Amino acid sequence: MNPWYKEGLRFKCTGCGQCCTGSPGYVWVTLAEADEIAKTLNIATEEFIKKYTRRIGNRLSLKEHPRNFDCVFLKGKRCEIYQARPKQCRTFPWWRDQLKTPKAWEEAAKRCEGINHPDAPLISLGEIQQNL
Ligand code: SF4
Ligand code: SF4
Repeated sequence: MNPWYKEGLRFKCTGCGQCCTGSPGYVWVTLAEADEIAKTLNIATEEFIKKYTRRIGNRLSLKEHPRNFDCVFLKGKRCEIYQARPKQCRTFPWWRDQLKTPKAWEEAAKRCEGINHPDAPLISLGEIQQNL
């Protein structure tokens, strides 16, 4: 069965940085991603894990600022590790919970100005599914 967004959805990232800050949350990092980010930063993976992540259960999440909840890699609206950012960041806003219903998508649009942005192109169902 085709999903409700079978005709595609409008999205264009404006680079506002809002999805990297604003409220407490988790940015999950796998060990393979930790290796990649550490390489980008030119440090050992162990050092990256110690300095930039926190352990939640048996998973790792990037640290965030305790007051404004900025991701540790958000600097002036830009991601310092953009090329090596974790999958969770790469696939935003195409997250299953945000695509569940039109209402969930509208809610996501309140947090991300790129969703349904007037200049946004129509992203096809195929492209969306590649990110799911
Ligand atoms: S909130 Fe949306 S528009 Fe802003 S940086 Fe994140 S993805 Fe891009
Ligand atoms: S890693 Fe980069 S893209 Fe992901 S939340 Fe942090 S600043 Fe944003």
